[in-house]
Amino acid sequence: MTDPHSNTAPEAAVLRGVPKQLFIDGKWLDAASGATLAVDDPATGEVLCEVADASPADGALALDAAVAAQPAWAATAPRVRSEILRRAYEIILERTEELARLMTLEMGKPLAEARGEVAYAAEFFRWFSEEAVRIDGGFTTTPDGGNRVLVMRQPVGPCLLITPWNFPLAMGTRKIGPAVAAGCTMVLKPAPQTPLSSLALAGILTEAGLPEGVLNVVTTSDAAGVIEPLLRGGRIRKLSFTGSTQVGRILLAQCADAVVRTSMELGGNAPFLVFEDADLDAAVDGAMVAKMRNMGEACTAANRMFVHRSVAGEFSARLAERMAALTVGPGTEPGSEVGPLIDAAGRGKVESLVRDAVERGATVLTGGRTPDGPGSFYPPTVLTGVPADAELTRTEIFGPVAAVIPFDDEDDVVRAANDTEWGLVGYVFTRDLDRALRVGERLETGMVGVNTGLVSNPAAPFGGVKQSGLGREGGRVGIEEFLEYKYLAIPAGGRRG
Ligand code: ADP
Repeated sequence: MTDPHSNTAPEAAVLRGVPKQLFIDGKWLDAASGATLAVDDPATGEVLCEVADASPADGALALDAAVAAQPAWAATAPRVRSEILRRAYEIILERTEELARLMTLEMGKPLAEARGEVAYAAEFFRWFSEEAVRIDGGFTTTPDGGNRVLVMRQPVGPCLLITPWNFPLAMGTRKIGPAVAAGCTMVLKPAPQTPLSSLALAGILTEAGLPEGVLNVVTTSDAAGVIEPLLRGGRIRKLSFTGSTQVGRILLAQCADAVVRTSMELGGNAPFLVFEDADLDAAVDGAMVAKMRNMGEACTAANRMFVHRSVAGEFSARLAERMAALTVGPGTEPGSEVGPLIDAAGRGKVESLVRDAVERGATVLTGGRTPDGPGSFYPPTVLTGVPADAELTRTEIFGPVAAVIPFDDEDDVVRAANDTEWGLVGYVFTRDLDRALRVGERLETGMVGVNTGLVSNPAAPFGGVKQSGLGREGGRVGIEEFLEYKYLAIPAGGRRG
């Protein structure tokens, strides 16, 4: 393996070029305390660089800026907001290579996947640049004819955006895009593992013409300390969070104090159903995408692969062959298809879930052994005959481990698929359209992939039911999350009622 952390171009140039301070009111600032936080390279475990480490006082300053900028930003013409997003979309695409490299360095995903994420991330800006000029209202007469009802939409107000490390760029644009389109100002707090993509994004939006104070970025190792006072303080009007269900619950409780509106994209435990009549080629292709996108570090990852007993052997063998053929290595290395997991803790969790499944009777078809050497690598792994009581059927694996669970009956498998507190996405593979619709309707999830392993698209409403979250991101409804309704009651003919 070459060392992706060596001080050579293009990695060093990309790292040098990215801002490393807090972005508050259009200025790059050190943390008031001068503290910094280390960003590690998961491929080597070494420190890539340091960024500012905000304290609660810095967080308050960022919110001051967002609150001060809100009235003028809300009054900015929709076309102006739209064109800022459109320009930012174009700049992101022009900088695909450097943004992809930056993301690979801080997060670990292979460059090819990082390039894919850059394109996906940019699309949110294009989509919401188109939505910014389509915010409409209404005008009606009440049934008794007494009042005119003038309905308008207004930005909800200053927003707090909290993003995870697994899609460092796309989770930012998926929240910033609709907030900008709706006329909201923002404080963005990226995950401490991957602050660089968000800082680069702030630079790009500034170049695209975003006014001072509209977007503020606060990087911190003290998420709880910085965020809680902001949420309880009564000035934030909206929280958009993507992360674990556990942290989501804490934030929902904090939002209760000041009755803050929330959008929550939380964990998943996706069932992936392969029926006996499925096209097995399509099912294996779909499984590779649904499992291996982002090394399995996705809330949409297929967590439980329920495969009809009559095809489970063949499906598992074919999947194992494909998984075993993948090239594992640092994401910056050409040809690398599976990068390291985010950190040692993430890998430790995957190791213990595999150990538990094997102890309960699962068979390892490929992988399952942690390699020697630096970086938090874990091999693509296929487990068959996974018993229903294995810990990984109730826990997000967040790693490259496919767990195949055989089933016999449609009703039973739908029941098993729904037997979880999560409900983000499910996948159904069958050639029978009736069955696809029937099962698709019965799955308790916000999204269902029918003969596909990929559901994410900026034009579609992404989100879950049950404890996978509240609200939707993307699609026509994505901007709704950042808008309030207001209506003016106007007596007909100017009469007073
Ligand atoms: P993961 O386990 O995948 O890191 P988390 O839910 O812990 O997911 O993190 C998602 C985001 O939430 C990150 O930006 C993280 O810093 C932030 N976060 C974690 N704990 C808190 C908290 N108590 N308050 C606010 N944000 C938090």
